[in-house]
Amino acid sequence: MAAADPASLGLTPAGRRSALEAYATEIAPCARCRLAEGRTQVVFGTGDPDANLMFIGEAPGFHEDKQGFPFVGQAGKLLDKLLGGIGLAREDVYIANVIKCRPPGNRDPQADEIEACEAHLFRQLELVEPRLVATLGNFATKLLTGKPHGITRVHGRPQEATVGGRTVTLYPLYHPAAALYTPAMLRTLEEDFAGIPALIGEEPAPAAAAEVIRFPVSAASAVATPPQQQQLGLF
Ligand code: URA
Repeated sequence: MAAADPASLGLTPAGRRSALEAYATEIAPCARCRLAEGRTQVVFGTGDPDANLMFIGEAPGFHEDKQGFPFVGQAGKLLDKLLGGIGLAREDVYIANVIKCRPPGNRDPQADEIEACEAHLFRQLELVEPRLVATLGNFATKLLTGKPHGITRVHGRPQEATVGGRTVTLYPLYHPAAALYTPAMLRTLEEDFAGIPALIGEEPAPAAAAEVIRFPVSAASAVATPPQQQQLGLF
C-alpha cells in the first residue's frame, strides 16, 4: 500500500465538496484587490472536487464573469473539445483560474492582483489534491513553477512541483484562447493533451473515440470573438 501523503488533508469526496463550497462562500465578497470593483462576481472554480486532474487558467473573461464559471466562453468550448479528445469531460476534472475576478477589458492580470489572489488558488489545490496540475498559459505556469520560463519553452513537459506542501506533477500547456486562431498551436495543444492520460495513469482514449478538432474551432466562434478581444499574455 502506498504511504499516506503527510500533507494530505485526508478529506472524503463529500468533505472536499463541502470544504470547497464553504470556501467559495467565504471569498464571494473578496475585496483584496481592485478587480473587486468591476467584477460581476467572483469566479471560483468548477468540476469534480475529487478530480485527479486540475486545470488552471488565467482569469475570467466576459462570459465567465457573467455566468460565474471558468472557461464557459470560446476558449472553454475548445477546452471541452480537447478534453473530449482524450475521453474526458469537464465534470471529470476540476477547473479554476489564477485570478478569480475579471480584469477590465480582459487585460493581463497585474503582479499585485496575482499576489492578492494566489492564496485562493492554493487553498483550492489543497482541498482538491489533484495528482496532475495542468497550467494553461503563462500566468498559471509561471506562478506554479516559480520560474520565469515562458510557456513556449516549457509546454508539454511534465515536471514535479511542490504545491501547498504536496508534490504534484505540473503539466504546462498552451492556453486554449491562444490556440483558437493559430492552427499550429492548436495542433501542439492537441499533442500535449494526448500526453495527459498517461500522466494520470489512464489509458489514452481509443483513436476512433478521439475527436479531431478542425480549425477554426467553429465558424461561429471565429466571428463571435475577434482575436483582439482574447486575453493577452498567453504565450
Ligand atoms: N480564460 C481563462 O484563462 N480563464 C477563463 O475562465 C476563461 C478564459
